[in-house]
Amino acid sequence: MRTLKKEKLKSLRSRYIALASLLGLAIIIASFLGFRSTFKLSDQANHQIEIIADQLQPIREISNEIQNAYRVMDLYLLDPQMSIYRSQVRQHLKNAIVHTRVLEKEPLFEQIKQLETLQHLKMDLASLIKKAEILFDVRTSSARQYPSMVIANQRMQPSRYKIIAALRPAIAEAREEQDSEVDNYPLLIELQELWIEMVSEFRVYLINRIGSFNMDTLDRQSNSIKLRYKAINKKLDELAKREEQQQLGFDVSLAVEVLKEFLPIWYQAFLEVEQVHNSKQWRIDSTLMQLHIIPLSDHIAKHFNSINDALEDENSRAIENLNWVQQQQNMLLSTIILIFILYIIAMLITLEKMVFRPIAAVAQALKAEAFGEKQELLLHTRTRETQDLIDAFYEMNLQVRNRQMALEYQARHDALTGLPNRALLLERMSYQLMAAKREKQHLSLFILDLNRFKEVNDTLGHHVGDQLLINVGQRFMECLREMDTIARLGGDEFAVLLPNTNSEQSKTVAKKLIEKINEPFAVNENQLYIGVSIGIASYPADGEDHNTLMQHADVAMYNAKLNHLGYTHYNIDEDQHSVGRLSLIQDLRQAIHNHELDLYFQPKIDIYKNIPVGAEALLRWNHPTLGFIPPDQIVDIAEGVGLIDQLTSWVTNRAIAQCSACHNEGFQLGMSINLSVKNLLNSQLSDEITALLERHQLNSRFVTFEVTESSMMDNPENSIKLLNELSDIGVAISVDDFGTGFSSLAYLKQLPVNELKIDKSFVMEMERNDSDAVIVHSTIELGHNLGLNVVAEGVEDQQTCDILKHYGCDFAQGYFIAHPLPADEFMAWLRAHKSCSLQGDERVANHAAN
Ligand code: C2E
Ligand code: CA
Ligand code: CA
Repeated sequence: MRTLKKEKLKSLRSRYIALASLLGLAIIIASFLGFRSTFKLSDQANHQIEIIADQLQPIREISNEIQNAYRVMDLYLLDPQMSIYRSQVRQHLKNAIVHTRVLEKEPLFEQIKQLETLQHLKMDLASLIKKAEILFDVRTSSARQYPSMVIANQRMQPSRYKIIAALRPAIAEAREEQDSEVDNYPLLIELQELWIEMVSEFRVYLINRIGSFNMDTLDRQSNSIKLRYKAINKKLDELAKREEQQQLGFDVSLAVEVLKEFLPIWYQAFLEVEQVHNSKQWRIDSTLMQLHIIPLSDHIAKHFNSINDALEDENSRAIENLNWVQQQQNMLLSTIILIFILYIIAMLITLEKMVFRPIAAVAQALKAEAFGEKQELLLHTRTRETQDLIDAFYEMNLQVRNRQMALEYQARHDALTGLPNRALLLERMSYQLMAAKREKQHLSLFILDLNRFKEVNDTLGHHVGDQLLINVGQRFMECLREMDTIARLGGDEFAVLLPNTNSEQSKTVAKKLIEKINEPFAVNENQLYIGVSIGIASYPADGEDHNTLMQHADVAMYNAKLNHLGYTHYNIDEDQHSVGRLSLIQDLRQAIHNHELDLYFQPKIDIYKNIPVGAEALLRWNHPTLGFIPPDQIVDIAEGVGLIDQLTSWVTNRAIAQCSACHNEGFQLGMSINLSVKNLLNSQLSDEITALLERHQLNSRFVTFEVTESSMMDNPENSIKLLNELSDIGVAISVDDFGTGFSSLAYLKQLPVNELKIDKSFVMEMERNDSDAVIVHSTIELGHNLGLNVVAEGVEDQQTCDILKHYGCDFAQGYFIAHPLPADEFMAWLRAHKSCSLQGDERVANHAAN
């Protein structure tokens, strides 16, 4: 269902990729279009500005040409002799026209509507050329320049000449006729003087005007002329009167006639001159300037202004356009940035919502899970990635829980049979005990140990043994109620917990279990017969806590096994060892440390020669409160608590020391030392022994290590390795308790074994039990066939000794020869058997050679 749901979810990644590419594309297109149009516009504006700038130069040139024309014109006006200026002025103005024509062709001016202005400019320049020519012409002739000069020259000068020509003979005549009654001479002289004064005054007047020297005197001078003219006329009237009276001579009367005719003409011309001088027309060049040249230059300036204004307008419009484009670009850029910021914000928000929060929730859930709090991940996610994460979390959670459950199951169950293990049994027992206490009920605990299981395992292999254990577990279960617990404690040891069952009721159950197990098992086409020993401890009679019950059921089982009882209840009297077994461990630790342990030595003799050849070192511990503790039990405890290597070291040290002491006294004996199965795991063992032999100066060939055949077979590979190491340092190996296990001959051949030690159980019964005798005999044969020495232990009487001798057994050991003895007694025994001891060396040498 989850996957179905997930298919509907959208992938956050693909969503982001789609969104980002869409947005990216939109931004790219928008920016492309936007930038393209703005670039186009800015290009246009820039181009326009460039064009305008390009046109500024020709305009400036036109202006320069015109300015130059004006300048040269001024120069010419100042010095009209320099005719070169005329052509320069013309050239400058023509150049200006040429430039103007060029401008006319520029589309810009049409665009800014200045074509007309240019045409006007051109026309004005052309007419300026014409007017300048006129001005120059005027400037070259003063007559043309000053109209009054024309009047003076054309009208006044002839009159003046006539008058002077008439006056000269008249005065001469009058001077000659001075003696006559009427003297005209002074009058004529006065008249002539007045005339000369008037003409001179006029000259000054004219110069004043043209030279513009003294404008204030002009009116005074003209008045003075007018006054003179009146005075002359008065004189002339006097002469005219004298004429009527014919008192004048010929020349004088002629002069009067001339004066009458020409004086008014002259005066009339003077009045005209005055009139001209008082008008603006008094000089033509300034008129030309004022009426034509200046207005024209004003027009030209106006045209320039118009063009400049238009260009400036156009320029500022282009700049405005450029600014607008820049604004647009800025806006576009800001919009893009804004879109990006919005996109990032949107992304952050969605990431927060769709990724970070779910991740944080998952992390929190994981943390809660790690601390053992159950937390449901109630998170609805909308993206596939986070859903994947949550799914992974659920999956992991599930896997972890499953694994945890599996581990918990493993921790509380036996891997092979699937039955509860010791831990679960104890747990249930505690619980059941509480219930029993509360309800005042009984409870029974069985410890079950299979009989002959080890044999099956050793002979038929572990796989058969394992299958058998599984089948046994199933059979047990068939006999039990659901409320009962059957647990496997390890190896072939089981336990059964029976709630609400008293010791009487438990008997029935035990019988049922024994019956069931006694039936043959079919494993891999084998019919297997095994049995079971059951020890029973019941609450509250045999203990009130699970430890005590377990311990007591164990003791009971041990009893049942020992006494072949099938099942037995715990009996406090039979349980010698149960009390303080725990304290024993601590005591043993101290005993090793404080040398409280002791070592006894049991002699071993050559059966034929009846001489001691060696001894077996046997551990003894006389516990301060518990008294004698059997060595196999000490070894058992030491093995259980990891003291076995220390214990063996202690024994070996003492045994070698004792052997060395014997040698020092002349008893060349061998020394046998027992090794536990756990010693075969100690890789330092051979090094330790080498060091001890060195310390006690004993040849390794005098030392034999006894290893039970079952311990050898427990871990054959390791045993072979370690025994080979021992053999390499020169010590002998003896197979102890031979016959009790199921030694494979193949293994026996591989091991560096020198001696077989037939188990005392066969030897002791040999006399009475034929089959034991057969076993002993065949073992001796087998040993010899393998080239091994054979030792019989547990020789308790002469007859046994004789039979062994008859069977060809090499050595004997047993109470018949000697009990295990403390060191001093052992030495005393040796001294007592001194006569034989001297030959012992030979035997030992022989033994060592094997
Ligand atoms: P084991 O190696 O088979 O030792 C021989 C046992 O037989 C000794 O018992 C000895 O006292 C006893 N025995 C000797 N002759 C006779 C006899 O004629 N009749 C009878 N009924 N018994 C006889 P013990 O001393 O009680 O030792 C028991 C076992 O404890 C030994 O069996 C050996 O497996 C173990 N053990 C003793 N000392 C040591 C030791 O120092 N290290 C190790 N690892 N095991 C030891
Ligand atoms: Ca032994
Ligand atoms: Ca033995």
